[in-house]
Amino acid sequence: MASDSQAKRIDPGTPFYKKRYVTFSIITFVVLILPWITIDGNHIFLLSFVHMRLELMGIAFDMQELYLLPFLLMFFFLFVLFITTVGGRVWCGWGCPQTIFRAIYRDLIEGKLLGMRKLNNKQKEPDMSQPGNKLKRAVAIVIWSLLAFVAAANFTWYFVPPEDFFVYIQNPADHPILMGMWIILALFLIYDVLKLGEDFCTYVCPYVRIQSAMYDPDTVFTIYDEKRGGKIYDEKGNKIGKKPLGEKDECTGCEACVKVCPTHIDIRKGLQLECINCLECADACRKVMAGLGKESLVRWESPTSITGENKIRLVRFRTMAYVALLTGIMAALLIMGSTKESMLLNINKSNRVYKVEPIGDLTRVSNDYIFLFSNTQSEAYEFYFEVTNHDAIEIERPTEPFRVEPGDRVRRIVVLYTDEDLSESADRDTRYRLNIRAYAVDNPEIFVEREAIFVYPASDKVQ
Ligand code: SF4
Ligand code: SF4
Repeated sequence: MASDSQAKRIDPGTPFYKKRYVTFSIITFVVLILPWITIDGNHIFLLSFVHMRLELMGIAFDMQELYLLPFLLMFFFLFVLFITTVGGRVWCGWGCPQTIFRAIYRDLIEGKLLGMRKLNNKQKEPDMSQPGNKLKRAVAIVIWSLLAFVAAANFTWYFVPPEDFFVYIQNPADHPILMGMWIILALFLIYDVLKLGEDFCTYVCPYVRIQSAMYDPDTVFTIYDEKRGGKIYDEKGNKIGKKPLGEKDECTGCEACVKVCPTHIDIRKGLQLECINCLECADACRKVMAGLGKESLVRWESPTSITGENKIRLVRFRTMAYVALLTGIMAALLIMGSTKESMLLNINKSNRVYKVEPIGDLTRVSNDYIFLFSNTQSEAYEFYFEVTNHDAIEIERPTEPFRVEPGDRVRRIVVLYTDEDLSESADRDTRYRLNIRAYAVDNPEIFVEREAIFVYPASDKVQ
């Protein structure tokens, strides 16, 4: 008999948890190094409130150019809806920082490193009456607290670049907001991972409320094969027994899938709000069933594929509609990114419409403006400007180019004047549309064009 059952045993294959841990490692590595990478002095992603600019894929956008941000948010939300429709709560189980942090603390620190808990039983908390466990818990808390400060710093690097962050923390009193945010975030992560745990996923995270609305019969998620395994719960959700009643029902009632579940649920009850799609139960059942020469009763499938009605259908109308929308938004982002202006200029006319003054035999008419120059480049430049469509209108002030630091804005009072008689009417002021070309004196590729209005008084007022 022993040799029969050994012959029946099938290879369970690579467990999901190994694939998840590899995914967690890649995500952690990418998230840690991304803030350090720059292209032409600009980051891959940086939303700096201090410098009022967004850096995206090495391109800097001033706050005035944040028309991109709604598109980015739209892309992000649609992408979340898309992956939920395709793979259920795949984000929760495979990419969410909360899941990664819990895996680090529970599985890596308390499990592997300190041997306080068994990885195949996540329902059972470590027995604190066991000798040494109190000390181990203290060590686990210290390790996680240090990591929480690293994780919180890593998060802030997407808003304050790491090169500035490490300078600022040398003088914490000068940067109370940054220090406060860093410490509060780290304390929250400590509380969250040590105390809230998976309750965060069930009760705090807003995503859990919307995800089930995104499911359709072809959505892939962790699912129990009730047809083969047998019923464990009745229609009202009451447990019939540990083991199904039917003779041919394959579930052994071992509850390996229940014990391993970090959210303390029984997958055999069907789709539940608490399920984070971590597939630990699928691994557990696969191991049990492999010993019996059978396929796992808990698998990553869709409701229609697990019954054999359909194959897993990733390509369907709904998913293709999301792909089309995401492609459209991405194309819009690329087009907007590529047509981005190399510098920015805002022009506001002052309250005084014009000034008329005699200069020798001439009458000078001047108009005042406030020009706001923004250097969106990663190097400092000397900026100046010219009026390109009216030779008679000249610049009185400023008299020479001025320096603008990278990412900075400089406000200048600008006075334009003319000594020629430009009046076109005896009783009405004349409005001239000026083309203003602002540019970097030291780089001809950096320029921007704007329009401004020059008002010339009626000839009656000039004489
Ligand atoms: S691990 Fe598989 S066999 Fe064991 S109780 Fe769960 S579903 Fe049944
Ligand atoms: S039922 Fe539990 S173990 Fe299974 S995927 Fe959901 S959360 Fe993970």
